Amino acid sequence: MSFFTHENHTLLAVNNEYTNKKWFYSNRESGKPETDDDIARNMAAHGISIFEVKQTDDHWQIVKDSPFNRRITATTEIEITGPAAGHDLLKTSADQAGLTALGTWNNCGNGKTPWGTYLSCEENFNGYFTSSNDTLEISAPLKRYGISKKGRGYNWERIDDRFDISKEPNEPNRHGYIVEVDPKDPSKPIKKRTALGRFKHENAEVVIAKNGKVVVYMGDDERGEFLYKFVSDGIYEEGKSTSQLLSKGTLYVAKFYDDLKGSWLPLNPETTGMSLAEICIHTRLAASKVGATTMDRPEWVAANPTKVECYCALTNNKNRGIKPNKGGDDTPIDGPNPRKKNVYGQILKWIPEKEDHTSTNFSWVLFALAGNPTVHDANADDKQEKLKAGSPNINAGNMFNSPDGLAFDSKGMLWIQTDGKYSNKGDFEGMGNNQMLVGNTKTGEIRRFLVGPKECEVTGICWSEDKATLFVGIQHPGEKGGSHFPDGGNLVPRSAVIAVRKKDGKAFG
Ligand code: CA
Ligand code: CA
Ligand code: CA
Repeated sequence: MSFFTHENHTLLAVNNEYTNKKWFYSNRESGKPETDDDIARNMAAHGISIFEVKQTDDHWQIVKDSPFNRRITATTEIEITGPAAGHDLLKTSADQAGLTALGTWNNCGNGKTPWGTYLSCEENFNGYFTSSNDTLEISAPLKRYGISKKGRGYNWERIDDRFDISKEPNEPNRHGYIVEVDPKDPSKPIKKRTALGRFKHENAEVVIAKNGKVVVYMGDDERGEFLYKFVSDGIYEEGKSTSQLLSKGTLYVAKFYDDLKGSWLPLNPETTGMSLAEICIHTRLAASKVGATTMDRPEWVAANPTKVECYCALTNNKNRGIKPNKGGDDTPIDGPNPRKKNVYGQILKWIPEKEDHTSTNFSWVLFALAGNPTVHDANADDKQEKLKAGSPNINAGNMFNSPDGLAFDSKGMLWIQTDGKYSNKGDFEGMGNNQMLVGNTKTGEIRRFLVGPKECEVTGICWSEDKATLFVGIQHPGEKGGSHFPDGGNLVPRSAVIAVRKKDGKAFG
């Protein structure tokens, strides 16, 4: 989610990533969609919510009759822009020009541009597609993106042929992008930005490099997939047109070396043998061709506003050192991904060469290796056992697993949110529920800030204009029935945004 100030209005844009069937259909005895309307309701529950909020006394309220309030769902018209727009692979029977997609779903993390737009990142878009033809041969590119004949049980194909790949084989190619929305102007077209690549997008961290170019850092959250950055051709100048900045540029993928150096490899027709449009549609395949480093599920990237350095949460990877990624690329134990069958995750830091975000070289180091120092032995002779205890800045009071959301505040403190195992047993004993921590990137110290309700993930973070309120997303609390957050009693648990303020009302962050 992101916070926007427009004239005297305060707007929040929030992603609605997915639904939990058990709760979504809890009005049905079967716990499943029973009518077409049930499915339409589910499609409408996905996407993005934009709404006005207002602070009265010490509380934030939704302004229910605001003209800015709107929903962007799985059926909203969205313009396809950039190098892939109009390509044959994007054409369907309803859109023979390949220029207008319907809808956005499984919107995971986000970004915010300096020109006041919201970027929403399409992640596990594949799970909504199925095939009515059991004998259909799924193409290699669709397989790479996890498209299967079964899908994940959303049943959208029951009311919309777009979700049946035997009828519309190109529909999946129209999803998996970053979507740009202007929260303050509902009349402006919403745009899919194909230049930023197609993969299971986590977030989009936007920075303006010292030469004025727009740099967007992005993770592809799947086991053994890659870390990317986009560098615009044009330069951002306040007040000038920004319409082409996320349409024209170069996409790079990260390669890490064990000597703590790395480079950004450009994805272009020369390096990949693919056309620019194909690179934007089959980005994973392009990145495999240049030999990028397979990572432990790159989640959010955060750039320090006080220093030229970036961080990425590598959440976990049970396949590390065990089996290749979906494209057949090896996933050996290496510098930034040092643990076999990595259950805890780590936070990686890299420093662009010459303090320049457009530089193709960088140095890197691990900021934190999450682990459990009370279950595993930090002094063990066995290297893998020793690494399971975590880095020296992990202790019994701050231990966590599966770092995911990452964001810097204006003072350069790094906020860390987790989406991991909350069993509190075995490898995870003593970690409790998912949580939010804050890290001092100068000293390495990490402290726990809040603990979420049971069975949630803590994800999404932004600050009010005066920095006195911190908004935090609590997603899928009670997903297994163990919590009724936030309303309590026997009520259906619901994802929620919470507002955190200091007792004295002073700014923090
Ligand atoms: Ca993710
Ligand atoms: Ca995530
Ligand atoms: Ca996650």
